[in-house]
Amino acid sequence: MHLMNPPLATRRSKAPNRQHRLQRLPCPACKCERLIDTGFHTISKTFVFGEVGYDTADYYQKCHSCRNSIGIQKLNTASYT
Ligand SMILES: [Zn+2]
Repeated sequence: MHLMNPPLATRRSKAPNRQHRLQRLPCPACKCERLIDTGFHTISKTFVFGEVGYDTADYYQKCHSCRNSIGIQKLNTASYT
């Protein structure tokens, strides 16, 4: 009997969908690829410390690569409809 399928066979079809739900924001200071993950439909702007807009950002995330604190402003979220 050969009823057992390797688990990888079912995971494979789901992987591409998951990746499309997130996008990566690059760090504006050191240009590393991934400062933070955001929703795929979220539009964000990033500011380095001292830049105009930094003080009024919505979120702050410390870059794991350059250790700068990056301000993130959420501009809007595209609607699903
Ligand atoms: Zn950085």
